[in-house]
Amino acid sequence: MAMLIPLLLAAAPAPALPAPSEPRLRATVTTLVGFGTRHTLSTVTDRKRGIGAARDWAAARFAEMAKDCGGCIKVERIARRFTGPRAPNGVMVEDVLGIQKGRDSERVVIVGAHIDSRVTDEMNATADAPGANDDASGVALVLEAARILSKRSHDATIVYAVFSGEEQGLWGATLLADTAKARGWQVSAMLNNDIVGNTVGQGGVRVADRVRVFSEGIRASEDMVQQQERRAIGGEDDGPSRALAKAIDGIAGTLPGGLDVMLDRRPDRFGRGGDHEPFLKLGYPAVRFSVGAENWDRQHQDLRTENGVDYGDTIAGMDFPYLAKVTAINMATLERLADAPAAPASAGIAGALSRDTTVTWSPVPNAAGYRVRWRRNDAQDWTAMRDVTGTSTVLQQVPVDDHFVGVSSLAADGSESLVTFAGHAARR
Ligand SMILES: [Zn+2]
Repeated sequence: MAMLIPLLLAAAPAPALPAPSEPRLRATVTTLVGFGTRHTLSTVTDRKRGIGAARDWAAARFAEMAKDCGGCIKVERIARRFTGPRAPNGVMVEDVLGIQKGRDSERVVIVGAHIDSRVTDEMNATADAPGANDDASGVALVLEAARILSKRSHDATIVYAVFSGEEQGLWGATLLADTAKARGWQVSAMLNNDIVGNTVGQGGVRVADRVRVFSEGIRASEDMVQQQERRAIGGEDDGPSRALAKAIDGIAGTLPGGLDVMLDRRPDRFGRGGDHEPFLKLGYPAVRFSVGAENWDRQHQDLRTENGVDYGDTIAGMDFPYLAKVTAINMATLERLADAPAAPASAGIAGALSRDTTVTWSPVPNAAGYRVRWRRNDAQDWTAMRDVTGTSTVLQQVPVDDHFVGVSSLAADGSESLVTFAGHAARR
């Protein structure tokens, strides 16, 4: 018999996080622009110009935060040599990481952005490439999230990642995804922030009330057996990354500021990619945040004025109150997922020829309870839920043929994991 009791929460939810600092976000972007270019092939020996100086500066910020939190953040730099069409002679790609160790084990949440920048010619490593929005905005977000979240301890480890080599081939993100796998991290979520700080888009259109969150519905990492199972049970809109995007949408709705999440049902913008992709290939839930309306006159452009139009990714095109709101959504997401237990490894439904659906799922260590969510098969968002202790429940008058079901784990303070889509019987 299923337990229908509401979960008794043992701990109060964490108080709301402080608001991100707009002046600090602006100061970070200003400093990064001040390195002239941060092209991946630019100088690494000049103390004032180029990607080397920029990475050193980012590492020094993490070191500063580490001091302020009694060493809770460990600064790490990982590097690997990459060669490709956009670096024919090879280049040492380095990521700067701030790692805030969690109380439990191998579980990890990652927030990342790329520090490298470019102009019109992707091989031009010497021209000024301010990269204010692409992607100093994301780096500023990562540093600000680290500064605020490091004031509290969390169950999962949070990795604050500053990537290089994005414009040459997503190399820094590839390096971190491979590192995550090699170290056996259980990555609950990866949040990629790339171009997150403008509200005036191409042609002057202003979009200040929403941020796009791109996610894959079907996992890039599915093998043939998993693909055939999904074909049989549905779930095209319920892969782990889509579940992450839906969670972010829900979290954003609870924050002040009114920034809506547009749940963009694609892995990334049409025909383009970003630093979350290497994580998707390895099966980790990952999404990309980006502004509501891009301004291509300001992306990947030589600094110039033509026919009265300013080209180039300068700080003049940015909106820091907006960037602060995107930062707040990231922080709240990181905190919730870092404080929640892992999502159930698997969940299953049964109930053929019955009006009721039996839901079962694999137990999660340290979970205080579970939340079962369901919706009719013609709906996109969960419409009903029930909190349960134990690892099964029966949904009466919810026919299995016409409903999608998912299960999440809950911490004692109510922090909820991502939702695991229920398919065939759970592996116990
Ligand atoms: Zn970018």
